Amino acid sequence: MEAESAPFTLDDFRLRMERSAQAAAADGLDGLLITPGPDLLWLTGYQPTAITERLTLLVLRVDAEPQLLVPVLERPDAESAVGAGAVAMSDWRDGVDPYEAATPLLSVDGEYAISDSAWAMHLLGLQHRLPETRYVSVTDRLPMLRAVKDDNELARLEAAGAAADAAFGEIVKVRFAGRKETDVAADLARLLREFGHEQVDFTVVGSGPNGANPHHEAGDRAILAGDMIVLDFGGLKHGYGSDTTRTVCAGDPTDQMREVHDIVRAAQQAAFETVRPGVACQEIDRVARRVISEAGYGDEFIHRTGHGIGMTTHEPPYMVEGEQRPLVPGMCFSIEPGIYLAGRFGVRIEDIVTVTADGGHRLNNSDRGLTIVE
Ligand code: ZN
Ligand code: ZN
Ligand code: ZN
Repeated sequence: MEAESAPFTLDDFRLRMERSAQAAAADGLDGLLITPGPDLLWLTGYQPTAITERLTLLVLRVDAEPQLLVPVLERPDAESAVGAGAVAMSDWRDGVDPYEAATPLLSVDGEYAISDSAWAMHLLGLQHRLPETRYVSVTDRLPMLRAVKDDNELARLEAAGAAADAAFGEIVKVRFAGRKETDVAADLARLLREFGHEQVDFTVVGSGPNGANPHHEAGDRAILAGDMIVLDFGGLKHGYGSDTTRTVCAGDPTDQMREVHDIVRAAQQAAFETVRPGVACQEIDRVARRVISEAGYGDEFIHRTGHGIGMTTHEPPYMVEGEQRPLVPGMCFSIEPGIYLAGRFGVRIEDIVTVTADGGHRLNNSDRGLTIVE
């Protein structure tokens, strides 16, 4: 057994709420409206046991103490959350209109950023009660709210990455040829749990032509000798995500398989070497794409280069053309270029990377060479 990571403290949650309210004010907003999901968990440590039609709403404003409105029957759970010590709590009972209960917490003609994961019925209910209030999405206006990780979050992400690397170290010892993709995927899920993940989110095993479809998860196809196999897997460990990809070959690769793998590896390396504070996110994408395009496979690199990771496995910042915001120390994201040859095979190599004061630091360090499996 390994040590538990240090728990988040009341001060951590207080600081996150303060900074978020300040970021909203700096962007000309009156505040933030947060419903259950990763934002609420990050801000308060609170996650209702079931996310239901009953309204739970955290209101953050720069000019007021944080306010958390909860269904009365969930109040004891909410009060036991660490961050509850930094909020003023109120509740509502079945039979009253929860949106009316929320009304005193908001300014009548204000503008608020609301959680992307807020149910439409809650937004519609608020709009009905406060027709002059304007709402924008958190991701639209404050996409970097959770993007810069603190030391405790980085330690958890690093541990999740190390566990994913350990899982890769074991998966290459199992038999591939003759087994189904779903069998290898089950092995991957078991290994992620063995190395401490409490949740497995995806176990992609894309063999042969299936590897050329980046959205393929795992299917009934029996892996053949000579197949390239894309392995992309991750989940949550101590609440923080892992996500790594390696491409292996079941037996002898062809010259083209080696060539394509070398190109993807060079693109991934070049993008990694570009990471440093102040560089625009889109530059990471451009550098990876340039390597692949110059090698003649630009049309076969059919997705963005990366995505942020934290309490969810896909979140801002995105390494994509058009994202001009700069990298900041503490940001954490994937670099995962790929080449997909329809009907034949695919290659992708993915590491999670954090931005340091003077460059980048990889949280995945398993062998990036073309590993041969049985
Ligand atoms: Zn991935
Ligand atoms: Zn990814
Ligand atoms: Zn490290």
